[in-house]
Amino acid sequence: MSTPAVDYNLDVARIRKEFPILNQEINGKPLVYLDNAATTQKPQIVIDALVEYYQKYNANIHRGIHTLAEKATAAYEASREAARGFINAESVEQVIFTKGTTESVNLVASSYGDKFINEGDEVLVSGMEHHSNIVPWQMMCERKKATLKVIPVDENGVLDLEDFSKMLCEKTKLVSIVFASNTLGTINPVKEIIAKAHDVGAVVMVDGAQAAPHLHLDVKDLDVDFLGFSAHKMYGPSGVGVLYGKRELLEEMPPYMGGGEMIKDVSFSKTTFNDLPFKFEAGTPNIADVVAFKQAIEFINIIGKDKIQQHELELLNYGQDKIGKIEGVRLIGTAAQKVSVISFVVEGVHHFDLGMMLDAKGVAVRTGHHCTQPLMDQYKIEGTVRASFAVYNTIQEIDTLADGLERIVKMMK
Ligand code: PMP
Repeated sequence: MSTPAVDYNLDVARIRKEFPILNQEINGKPLVYLDNAATTQKPQIVIDALVEYYQKYNANIHRGIHTLAEKATAAYEASREAARGFINAESVEQVIFTKGTTESVNLVASSYGDKFINEGDEVLVSGMEHHSNIVPWQMMCERKKATLKVIPVDENGVLDLEDFSKMLCEKTKLVSIVFASNTLGTINPVKEIIAKAHDVGAVVMVDGAQAAPHLHLDVKDLDVDFLGFSAHKMYGPSGVGVLYGKRELLEEMPPYMGGGEMIKDVSFSKTTFNDLPFKFEAGTPNIADVVAFKQAIEFINIIGKDKIQQHELELLNYGQDKIGKIEGVRLIGTAAQKVSVISFVVEGVHHFDLGMMLDAKGVAVRTGHHCTQPLMDQYKIEGTVRASFAVYNTIQEIDTLADGLERIVKMMK
C-alpha cells in the first residue's frame, strides 16, 4: 500500500503512466477513453492495493483477534478516515460505506423516508436527476402517500431557482439534488439550495457522484444533511460508495438492513443495534475495494482538486468550442458552470451509430439516455453522445474525437 511520493504537478504524461489500461490499442487505434462520467480508469496504486490485500492480509474485519483480521480492519478503517477527510466530515461515525451512490440514496429513502416522511408531505428532486436519485424517492413516496415534485430545468440545462423557491413550503420535508449532472455537466448551486430548503425545515440529500472526482466536497461548509458518492467515478474500485449523514439524523434513523455487524446483542425477544456507522453496515462488506479506495482518495489529494479542475476546465472549454462548431452538432447542456462533460446530438445521425463509429476509431464515448430519461423527454431526444474527461485526458484526445466526428458526419451526409 505504498503511495508514490510524486508531485504530479499536472504532468499529464506522468499521470497517464499510472494508468496501465490507457496504454493500449482498440480496433487498431490508440485508446481514447472519454467515458469517465460512467467510470474512470484506475491508477496502479489502486490496483496494487487490491492485489496486496488479497495476497497478504485477506481476513474478515472487526470480529477477528488474529493478526490478519486486525490488519484488514485497520486498513478498512483507514479508508473511512480518508473518506472523512475527503469530505471534511466531523467524524468517521458519519461515514457509512455503501455499494455506491445508488445504495446511498436508497438507504436514505428507505430508512429516513419510512420513519420521517408522512402522507401529504412533499419531496423535491430536479428535472436533471439520474434515475438513482428519482426512483428510490418515487418508491418511497408511493409507500408513504407523499408527493414527488420536480424542480424545472431550462433549455441550457440550468435549474430554475425562482421556481424552486416557490415550490418550497411547510409540506416540503426533503430535497434531493444532484451536485453535478452526469448528462449536462451542470454544476448546481447546492449550497444555496440547501440553505433555502433548511429555511422551510426540509432536509437535503446531495448526489455527489459526478462532483466527487472534480469539485471540492465540504459537508460542513455546505451544511448538507446527506451526501452520497461512488468510488469508481473517482479513480477507485467499483462496488464502493459513501453515505455521509448528519449525526443527529443518522442516530434517529432505523437500520436499512438487518444482519451481522449492525447489532450489539441479539436474542429472539429483542435485538439492540450497533453504534454508528456500523448500524448501517450489515454483513461482511466489500473489504478489498474499500481498502483500495483510500489510494484513489490519496491519488486525487496528491494532485489536488484545484489542479484537476483547472486542467479539466481547459479540456471542457476547448472541447465545447471545437465540437460545437462541427456542422449539425447541437450541444445539450450549455450552463456557465459545468464539470467536464460534453453531451451532443448530430442532426440526422443516431447517437448509437456515432458511438459505434467512434469506437472503430478507438474513441470510447457514452451514448444513450445516461439514466436521465425525464431529461431526454424534456429535450425531446432519445439520447446523446457524451464525452466526459478526467485528469489523464489531453487536448490531442479531444482533437481525435473532433476529427473523427467531423469525418463521420461528412460521410453520413
Ligand atoms: N448519480 C449520478 C449523477 C451518476 O452519474 C450516477 C452514475 N452514473 C449515479 C448517481 C449512480 O451511481 P452508481 O451507479 O455508482 O451507484
